[in-house]
Amino acid sequence: MRPLRPLRLCMTPFIPLWNNPESKAQSPKANLKSKISSRKSAILSGSGPRQQMGNELVQITAVSQPGLAAEPQSSPDASPGELKTFYIETFGCQMNVHDSEKVQGVLLGRGMKPVEDHARADLVLYNTCSIREKAAQKVFSRLGAFRKGNGGAGKVIGVLGCVAQQEGERFFDRAPRVSLVCGSASYAKLPHLLDELEAGNRRVSGLSLDTDECFETELTRRDNPFRAYLTIIEGCDQRCSFCVVPMTRGPQRSRPSEKILAEARRLVDEGYTEIQLLGQIVNAWQDPSSARWSFAELLSRVAEIPGIRRVRFTTSHPRFFSPDIVQAIDAHSTLCDQIHLPVQSGSTAVLARMLRGYTREEYLEKIHCIRKARRTISLSTDVIVGFYGETRQDFEQTLSLMKEVEYDQVFSFKYSPRPNTLAEANGDALGEEEKARRLAQLQELQRQIQLRRNQALVGETFDVLVEGYQVRLGQAVGRATTNRVVNFPGSPEDIGRYLAVKVSGAGPNSLVGARA
Ligand code: SAM
Repeated sequence: MRPLRPLRLCMTPFIPLWNNPESKAQSPKANLKSKISSRKSAILSGSGPRQQMGNELVQITAVSQPGLAAEPQSSPDASPGELKTFYIETFGCQMNVHDSEKVQGVLLGRGMKPVEDHARADLVLYNTCSIREKAAQKVFSRLGAFRKGNGGAGKVIGVLGCVAQQEGERFFDRAPRVSLVCGSASYAKLPHLLDELEAGNRRVSGLSLDTDECFETELTRRDNPFRAYLTIIEGCDQRCSFCVVPMTRGPQRSRPSEKILAEARRLVDEGYTEIQLLGQIVNAWQDPSSARWSFAELLSRVAEIPGIRRVRFTTSHPRFFSPDIVQAIDAHSTLCDQIHLPVQSGSTAVLARMLRGYTREEYLEKIHCIRKARRTISLSTDVIVGFYGETRQDFEQTLSLMKEVEYDQVFSFKYSPRPNTLAEANGDALGEEEKARRLAQLQELQRQIQLRRNQALVGETFDVLVEGYQVRLGQAVGRATTNRVVNFPGSPEDIGRYLAVKVSGAGPNSLVGARA
């Protein structure tokens, strides 16, 4: 799963009408036009929350909609029974972002209102990530603010997600202001936990991993007005020796195909044109219903929904990557020409220690299969440098694999030993300095590859979904189906449109052009 920069969710009073419980009775189709126009007016660049697109910083800001009530204020001494307002901040991957959207749905369904400043919230939630130590530390620095003075007076503070699961009830000792600790495998219990908080219980937790439930919500408050995330599989049954996910997200649970299709159709009815199917290992999805569709069949059925323009999926694991996925992409133009296939290392010896379940050669066979597709499919990957026992030769093999594959994007990380993983006992032999050196070398190589690949696109025309507008530069910003970021002179009215843009220039992280 591609990690994102911390993304503040629900920081504005903007509630899309199509997700507003008060507008539930309206017919989605009848209101489609007005919904789309309200989305456009809701997104302008300015000084709001920042969203990372590629490595370029684009500001996509939701502004309040006319007709919505003024932002509610928290009562400084609200008793737990009076939780009226909430603030949620999310760290980590797209799955965390989408979990937060569903948590917001639960809170809105209870009549609570979002606020954009934690100081004004009765309930402050942090949805955390523990994939690397640095990510895990972020929540503790946030909680530090409540230790000083009476910053947390009258508030209920909750920690969700991977760090919550990892730390469990120890959290209450480490951060006594925290009243709710809940891992993602227990989100189905959130309404019950919130009831307990409102009844005055000051320490409630949901930490069981023993579940076959998915986190289904009646209402999801989606923050991106164009791209809707849709979880198809939760948890992870792999035991990659570096990875904490199986311990923090619980066992693998697939959603039945009919539920996925019903949600996808509803999203299209609501006006979304891009759907991103999510899972820690999205292509390990197995239809638990009697239909018994394969993952490739599911992709095809979602891609065939009338009105849909783009379908993406992330994250795929090489072990489960089969040629029928490429065939599905070839057969359906709405399946985006983009695959994220984390390799982690180019050395078979390191891959074996990571328990990834494939060799360098087997991985390259999958890449070969993708490269044979009729459309040129853009490829991205994740790489870990400095895993224990990684020799200079192992690292050179990662570099040589990157030169061979020529990825369009690489997310690269220094190895960070994680608690309770199989590799934890082997420590962090390489040391920070050497890991940093290797990371810098790898990133410089990838920068050159990306620059060359992007420059080769000058003169080509792409269909771009406009996602934002930078007022200062007068530039519209969007993405091609390859997921490349494209900037071009435009206007705020372009937001939400699909426009043909001819590329006139390229940097390592984005393209520039003009409307064709
Ligand atoms: N489930 C996906 C998979 O197995 O391919 C990846 C999920 S993880 C959220 C995203 C990426 O973080 C991984 O692909 C890996 O590159 C990186 N990562 C995971 N554990 C790590 C660790 N202990 N140290 C450094 N990077 C790590």
